Parts: sequence; C-alpha cells; structure tokens
Amino acid sequence: MTVANSSSKIIYADNAATTKPDAEALALMFELQEKFFANPSSAYKLSRPLKKILQESREKIAACINAKPQEIFFTSGGTESDNWAIKSSVLASLPERPNIITSAVEHKAILNSCAAMKNLGCTVTKLPVDKFGAVNPDDLREKILPQTKIISVMLANNEVGTIQPVKALAAVAHEHGKIFHTDAVQAVGHIPVDVANLGVDMLSASAHKFNGPKGVGFLYVRTGLNFAPYIDGGGQEFSKRGGTENVPAIAAMALALEKNCREMNVTAKKISACANTLLENLRGKNVDFILNGGANRLPGHLSLSFKDCEGETLLHRLDLKNICVSTGSACNSRQVQKSHVLQALTVPEDYINGTIRITFGKENSLSDAENIAENLTDILLSL
Ligand code: PLP
Repeated sequence: MTVANSSSKIIYADNAATTKPDAEALALMFELQEKFFANPSSAYKLSRPLKKILQESREKIAACINAKPQEIFFTSGGTESDNWAIKSSVLASLPERPNIITSAVEHKAILNSCAAMKNLGCTVTKLPVDKFGAVNPDDLREKILPQTKIISVMLANNEVGTIQPVKALAAVAHEHGKIFHTDAVQAVGHIPVDVANLGVDMLSASAHKFNGPKGVGFLYVRTGLNFAPYIDGGGQEFSKRGGTENVPAIAAMALALEKNCREMNVTAKKISACANTLLENLRGKNVDFILNGGANRLPGHLSLSFKDCEGETLLHRLDLKNICVSTGSACNSRQVQKSHVLQALTVPEDYINGTIRITFGKENSLSDAENIAENLTDILLSL
C-alpha cells in the first residue's frame, strides 16, 4: 500500500501490526457515531436501531466463522479476548489452581495472561515448536495433566506467520476433556476460519487486523461451555461482559470482516504474489537470508533473517526510504531483546538479530515488493 504523506509516498508493509481501515467500514462507523448516539441498552425507540445493528453485526460475524450469533461476545480487541479466555478458565476452577498449556510462540497477550495466573498459583506448560514454529499434537498429548483446565495455541503466528495444526490440537484436547482456545487474531479475515470444523471451544479475534477499526474485537465461545465473565459490570453481552457496547465500531468490524472474507481468495493470491516477488528479487541479487516459518504460512507474510546485522538498523534505514516494516512483532518493537518466537524456532545466532517482518496487505502492489527488495538490497550492501 502506498499512502500519501505530507511530503512523500510511504509503502506500508506492516499489515500484521495493523491494517488500514476499510473506507466503507470507516464511513459507516462515523455515520453511526453521529446519528445513533443512544445507549443500545435503553428502553426507548431511539435505541431500537442500535439493538438491531448489534444483533445484525453479531449475525454477520458469526456467519464469517461458521458460529452461532449468541456465541460471539464483543470485546475491546485481541488482548482482552485472550485475557478473558485464559483468566475465565482459572476463575471457573477456583479455589483450585489449574494447569494451563500453551505454546512457546504465543503473543504476549496469552503468555502474560498465563504468567499472571502463575503468580496466583497455577502451573503453566509451554509446548515447544519445530524449526518452522509448529506445535506437534503428540507433544500436547504427552503434556496434558489431570489438572489441566485449558489449552491455548494460536491459529497463526504474528511474527513468522506459521499456521498451527489447530484442528488436530483441539481434537487431542477433547480426547482428554479439556477446553481448547485459539488466538486467531492474525488469521481471521485472512485465511478461512470455521470454528465448527476446527473444533475449538474459544477463539479470539481483533478488528484492526482485518481492516476494521482499533479497540474492538470478539471472543467466540462455543454454546454450552461454562465460562466466567472477565469484565464485570452491567448485563451487556448476555451478562458476560459489562460495558456499554461501541456499536459504531462493532458494525464497522462486521462490515470489514464480511468484505475481507468475500475477497479472501483474491487478496491471498495478490499478497502471495507480492511476497514471492520480493523473495525472487532478493534471490536474484544473491542476498543471503533465512525465510522463517516454513511453507504453511499466512499469505503475504515474510519473516526474513539476515546474517550479522541488526533488524533495528534495517527497519530504520527502510523507514528513511519511506518503507514501513517491523522487527519481530509490533508490540515488541521498542524492546531490543531477542524475539521469543525466533528463539523457539532456533533461528541461528548470527541471523536472529537481523530479522525483519514484511507483511503485505490488500493495498500493496507488485511494485511495492520490487521497491522493498531493491532498497533492502542496497541497505544490506552498504552495511
Ligand atoms: N494476538 C496476536 C496473535 C496478535 O498479533 C495481537 C496483536 O498484535 C494480539 C493478540 C493483540 O491484539 P490487539 O492489538 O487487538 O489487542
């Protein structure tokens, strides 16, 4: 995507950090914000359209992931959904302190929720991954304990794009009667997600990762699963999540998700072509790099490690060329620690620090990919 800046053009290739909100979704959000300001919970007729929009948004989102509308609970985004899934399972077990199983490559929203539960006396088991970042269902089978309450493994990794065998992992969890949650923040709206087919009990998603607005997301919870509220308050969201709903943002999220799902195949083809073009251009110039994450990755998602250099330097030098990429995940971008994901993949020591993430989105073009490859090659040569 090329965006107009005050003085120059910017190539935005950091779509795993966030995506540009869809113009129609934004227009809908602003229109609703202005015209329908009533509280959706109020009893007068001014609130009726808001109740209807809320219900229609729930239905649209449910249809996109093959869920039932009453299984969709609106939240403030991926972090809240992840916290809710992990912490509610512990709340439901009190006074016992259960075991939680997760993977070594989860987002901090899961890892730090688990760490907080560990401080309360729970035990946390982290499953290893192979060199591509995938969890082996047999490893999960071995690690399940009688006191395990919930297993949480992400659907697609935010740093390297690896798609996990979630269907097989959920099946192992259910063989042992355990709850299975997946953080699908990077997957929803980008690859087909069917909760019934995957067999997951809970799933987290975030609107700003699929061209919706920031600060809104949802948690899918399978009908019949006994789960506790995390945000206590009024009776909103079937009395499971208090707080006046942000109806304009929720409606915009539903519209953005519907659009992304409708255009999914076309977008995937387009951004895969961008990623392939970039790789071919680097290879054509004999650039030495490691492509992390294996073949089963999110479309348009590249994590590249270059020998004996700093990802931070590459990022800032590309930024000077008006190209936006990231090192590791955006949430880590101010930290200089080695990424826990790249470490879990055992990326070689002389390459790990020189890692950047380039993630194409639906507004990128092949010429963006060529431009990034050319600038990156020049920067690497100059270092
Ligand atoms: N989970 C994953 C895999 C993510 O990539 C992110 C955001 O980067 C989150 C959770 C957090 O989502 P949000 O930014 O909506 O809180």
